[in-house]
Amino acid sequence: MLLGSHSECIAVGEVDNVIGPERDRTWVEDHYGRCTCGKCNFWPIVMETIDTDGATTLADRYAAFLRTFAEFFPGKIPVDSSKHLDTYHALASLSECTPIRITRDVRAWSVSVSGKVTARKMLRWYKMNKRYDKALSHAVNIGYEPLALHTDEALSKLCEAVDLEYQPAMKEIHMSDSHILVGNRMRTSGALKIRYDSRWLAGASIWPALLRPVMNYNRRRVYGL
Ligand SMILES: [Zn+2]
Repeated sequence: MLLGSHSECIAVGEVDNVIGPERDRTWVEDHYGRCTCGKCNFWPIVMETIDTDGATTLADRYAAFLRTFAEFFPGKIPVDSSKHLDTYHALASLSECTPIRITRDVRAWSVSVSGKVTARKMLRWYKMNKRYDKALSHAVNIGYEPLALHTDEALSKLCEAVDLEYQPAMKEIHMSDSHILVGNRMRTSGALKIRYDSRWLAGASIWPALLRPVMNYNRRRVYGL
């Protein structure tokens, strides 16, 4: 959403969750009214193009999406928040595409998924991230905590990495130009700010002190230290 607020970009949410082969057109039509633009005339044309193309594979459906996007928003860059590797590979086969990987502090992640920090959760986070290191070694990496808590600094680094000029107004999230039908979004209208979920700071756990390699990796991966 932050990148989508850049004047050269448009946030399109989790595209694979709208156009994936498992979605049928009726489902998408039933949800047009939920698009963050208010009244969507973009997604209906995407779905129509997919049907006209007879596109069945994810890559073919993405090709229809990209074509429609270029017609609707000439010169703009779509910011897709899809989270699957298969989706990235389909998209990268069609277009120049920069994967951006956001990693959340292992303690915050554990609390968000299970309410507490456990060894099992920490090790799962570690394994998962090591897998992403291998699969997306060329990704632009960003920590969720720096992004949420030191937004200006993190965002200007991110912009530099993706070759966009940093615009301080980006951090006031503007939803008016976005077309987010599916994805984690803030539903209220107008300018919005990130609110950080700091529940994990209040809980005590012995595991971060014991699982040193995980915490060292967490420091590097999330905070770049
Ligand atoms: Zn829309």
